Amino acid sequence: MHNTLPLLDKIAFPPLARGRLDTLQVNVGYRCNQSCVHCHVGASPQRTEEMAGETVDLVLAVLERRRIATLDITGGAPELNRHFRRLVGAARDLGVRVMDRCNLTVLEVAGQEDLAAFLAAQQVEIVASLPCYLEDNVDRQRGRGVFEGSIRGLRRLNALGYGREETGLILNLVFNPQGPSLPPPQQVLEADYRRELGNKFGVEFNHLFTLANMPIQRFGSTLVSKGEFDRYMSLLRQAHRDDNLDGVMCRSLVSVDWRGYLYDCDFNQMLDLPLTWPAGARGRLEDLLTGDLDHNPIRVAGHCYGCTAGQGSSCGGALKEAAE
Ligand code: SF4
Ligand code: SF4
Repeated sequence: MHNTLPLLDKIAFPPLARGRLDTLQVNVGYRCNQSCVHCHVGASPQRTEEMAGETVDLVLAVLERRRIATLDITGGAPELNRHFRRLVGAARDLGVRVMDRCNLTVLEVAGQEDLAAFLAAQQVEIVASLPCYLEDNVDRQRGRGVFEGSIRGLRRLNALGYGREETGLILNLVFNPQGPSLPPPQQVLEADYRRELGNKFGVEFNHLFTLANMPIQRFGSTLVSKGEFDRYMSLLRQAHRDDNLDGVMCRSLVSVDWRGYLYDCDFNQMLDLPLTWPAGARGRLEDLLTGDLDHNPIRVAGHCYGCTAGQGSSCGGALKEAAE
């Protein structure tokens, strides 16, 4: 696989500094029941990296000590970490809002039959990837049978009350383009998804987030192999808007890897671009027990244009609309 970091590091990006920390995004491991083409984590069933119980304890201690409002759990398929349910339950007991980046098909994995009910009982917000409402497109990107499995997962969540305003159980979907292009406008695509998924499958959801593909990991490597890297970077750079800089997630979120090291975001984690703090050292979870990250410089490079292009996208969908 081609490492795109040397190429990205040559591309200048405006300097950024951190604001107030309100979200701890924890990657609990790279194992996944899928191995999607665009995966920026390079996750698959063969990956063995997994957050240990002691590190999960540290996550909970940091949430409590720093009074962090939101825990965003990601992976791989985060639910496959053996400590996932303990982490969720303890964080909810602390009054923390918990988000689970769920791939939907994990709800059908052997041993996870009660997962959907657990998530609903804990009032966990679900953020689920569904890169298209057409079966062929989803299966091409995420693997054969993934679309059907995802629809079954969505129906199971709807049956528990997810995706319906009146229940408070949030189910948001995430779209990313099939190839090296920018996502279409979020509001327009959300209306298309609502119509298509509703009419054909009776599926309901709260919101659709549109994200640009990041030129890193498998997707970045494919761009290099096909000679499309420079063209895609030009596309992102030409679509950059300065007013998206204020809303990028790294200003208020810190990303933690399965070993407890800190990064400005999940993308930097995948590029192995560590957060340096305090005093130029490699930041670790335990450092957050005693200090705060406010005003620390953010480690930027060319991939950051993936967050500021067009409407902007930073794991939470279009920034412009989010601010409106
Ligand atoms: S489901 Fe998500 S984490 Fe798993 S391989 Fe696909 S994109 Fe990566
Ligand atoms: S990739 Fe996006 S979230 Fe990560 S450091 Fe760059 S601007 Fe911030």
